[in-house]
Amino acid sequence: MTDLTHLSLTDVIHKLNSGEVSAVDLTQAYLDAIEKQDKQINSYITVLHNEVLLEARAADEARANGDPRPMLGVPIGIKDVLSTKGVETTCGSKILAGYKPIFDATCVARLKEAGVVILGKINMDEFAMGSSNENSAYGPVRNPWNMDHVPGGSSGGSGAAVAAGLCAGSLGTDTGGSVRLPASYCGITALKPTYGRISRYGLIAFGSSLDCVGPMARTVEDTAWLLQVMAGHDPMDSTSMKIDVPDYRSELTGDVKGLKMGLPKEYFSDAVDPEVMQAVRAAIAEYEAMGAEIVDISLPYSDYSLAVYYIIATSEASSNLARFDGIRYGPKVDKGDMWDTYRATRAQFGEEVKRRIMLGTYTLSAGYYDAYYGKAQGVRTLIKQEFEQAFESVDVILTPTAPNTAFKLGENIDDPLQLYLADVLTVGANLAGIPGLALPCGFSSAGMPIGMQIMGPQFAESTIMRAGHAYQQVTEWHKRVPEPVA
Ligand code: GLN
Repeated sequence: MTDLTHLSLTDVIHKLNSGEVSAVDLTQAYLDAIEKQDKQINSYITVLHNEVLLEARAADEARANGDPRPMLGVPIGIKDVLSTKGVETTCGSKILAGYKPIFDATCVARLKEAGVVILGKINMDEFAMGSSNENSAYGPVRNPWNMDHVPGGSSGGSGAAVAAGLCAGSLGTDTGGSVRLPASYCGITALKPTYGRISRYGLIAFGSSLDCVGPMARTVEDTAWLLQVMAGHDPMDSTSMKIDVPDYRSELTGDVKGLKMGLPKEYFSDAVDPEVMQAVRAAIAEYEAMGAEIVDISLPYSDYSLAVYYIIATSEASSNLARFDGIRYGPKVDKGDMWDTYRATRAQFGEEVKRRIMLGTYTLSAGYYDAYYGKAQGVRTLIKQEFEQAFESVDVILTPTAPNTAFKLGENIDDPLQLYLADVLTVGANLAGIPGLALPCGFSSAGMPIGMQIMGPQFAESTIMRAGHAYQQVTEWHKRVPEPVA
């Protein structure tokens, strides 16, 4: 039998529905792979060994009894920032160790309703702050393509687990690039939808005006299956939009003839590694050969996007993380005195989280608010308008996903600014609230995956997925899998 663990999620669905494989066999294959490989990769924080097998058995039985749900029994992993009823949800932090939510995040509930079974909760940078997954209180995640390298962050576990065949697909979240960067570094596909396309209810907040839930898997079609289930209005999240959800898969026509693809010159600067540049250029040539029209454009405000992002994200984080004080959330370290208790309790945050809280508290403080937060909001509007203008002349925008390939563990850990730079090409989509798709488009000479990004106007997920899917019909990068970790 072919290796079950490296099937695409779409193939998994087909094989389950044709009866070629059972959910139990499939789940067992992932559990075996986790057992063998994950001590080293460290992509899971919690594996639901027993529960998931019971659920898989129930799924097989339901299917045998005529339950028509196509995703019945598909095993996936959930980033540990998403609330799961009765299952420990740590956010990669010590401060939430032992926390068992009493409800499911809406995206999780919708996946369960569709019949998906949950293998476990996936490792991540603490509170989704990071680009390398080295900021987890549960240890760093390693890149299955080279164990000395990072998987990207903050959904690094979700990226590594898909790449290594430890789940059929996973959920990540993206505040400034956190599904796209790990997708790029791990050689998989990930979609950051439009802000408001998927409910944030039950997603533990980092930057509320930026946070998005995003599917991660092998192919664009896989992400379409997951998006389909999760998208749509949720009365529990007033920022989720009341806009019809299209039939995403029916729009994956494979046709990009006449599609206008913009290449912003600011995203093709000298800061991009030459091997990344070459791979992305080759992908552009592929699109031209398929009949897409390539247009040079300029997005001058993107030079400010990283600075704006790190002011807005940290400001919102400083406010969102105030609730982890030992009284509302988090294990209280009682020191008698109120202030000492706060201090001792909040000392349980990791270094990066503390840095963000301090930065955000500063940028929101009286006297600096106008100079930093107010200014950043103003520039954010300009960035959003600039994208809107660009989309008057092009259908999608194509760029590298990251300026580089995965770097070595420890290489940048003492240099936060260097780490922040990994997000330079992704944060724009979050600031503008637009969708961005990351997909593999090559490998470096050292054998590390390279990714490209396709962005579109708000709610144009269908268009960017159509473009990504067409590329995956004529290329094989997304089919490569790493050697199993011994
Ligand atoms: N790397 C970025 C940060 O650390 C983005 C994180 C994210 O998207 N969650 O803020």
